[in-house]
Amino acid sequence: MAIKQTAGRDVLGEFAPKFAQLNDDVLFGEVWSREEKLSLRDRSLVTVTALMAQGLTDSSFQYHLMSAKQNGITKSEIAEILTHAAFYAGWSKAWAAFRMAKEVWTEEETDAKSAHANAMVFPIGQPNDGFAQYFIGQSYLAPLSTQQVGIFNVTFEPGCRNNWHIHHADKGGGQILVCVAGQGWYQEWGQEPQPLHPGDVVNIPVGVKHWHGAASDNWFSHLAIEVPGENGSNEWLEAVDDEAYGKLKG
Ligand code: MN
Repeated sequence: MAIKQTAGRDVLGEFAPKFAQLNDDVLFGEVWSREEKLSLRDRSLVTVTALMAQGLTDSSFQYHLMSAKQNGITKSEIAEILTHAAFYAGWSKAWAAFRMAKEVWTEEETDAKSAHANAMVFPIGQPNDGFAQYFIGQSYLAPLSTQQVGIFNVTFEPGCRNNWHIHHADKGGGQILVCVAGQGWYQEWGQEPQPLHPGDVVNIPVGVKHWHGAASDNWFSHLAIEVPGENGSNEWLEAVDDEAYGKLKG
């Protein structure tokens, strides 16, 4: 499908009509449009790298970063692309490119977090600093009930998950997860990982080794309900490493 581009005619249509026509109809209308030969994502990668190599961090570079994002290049991929290119194109050019890329990809992150917050009735709360050592990635904690039965809304950024852990108690105890927004995962030791969607409920008995967290490309929130028990405690174990987490599909 041909890409419709009007920037050339918008900016230079009167001053340089031929240049405008070549820009809109040939560069974008023909070359960028040959998706059957090379995807838009790959074309963005080539373009961003070529512009960065020239030290061209102007408004057109910003435009190409924004389309790279639209064409599916993620924040971690652009970081990798610019880091790699830095060795061939020049360190300070990478610095200049990073300053602009950071703005383009941070916006997206803020937007995704707000969209997730708007999709649920419970607050996201504060960064879950108290438990950060037992998580990979950023999580957030909002205490909803701290009397009778403890209920906490736990939010995981994409890719965030807690370590393997066990809820212990002498009598009663355990944990119930009530999924409220986004997409996540739950896994018991020795069992297949189970995808989680809003409305799903997971009963976690005492003594069962497990982890829970977000999908790699989605924010996720669940209520964590502490089932009352005697002498309750949590035992934190090894992290869910990138290799095991990377194998999740759903
Ligand atoms: Mn748990």
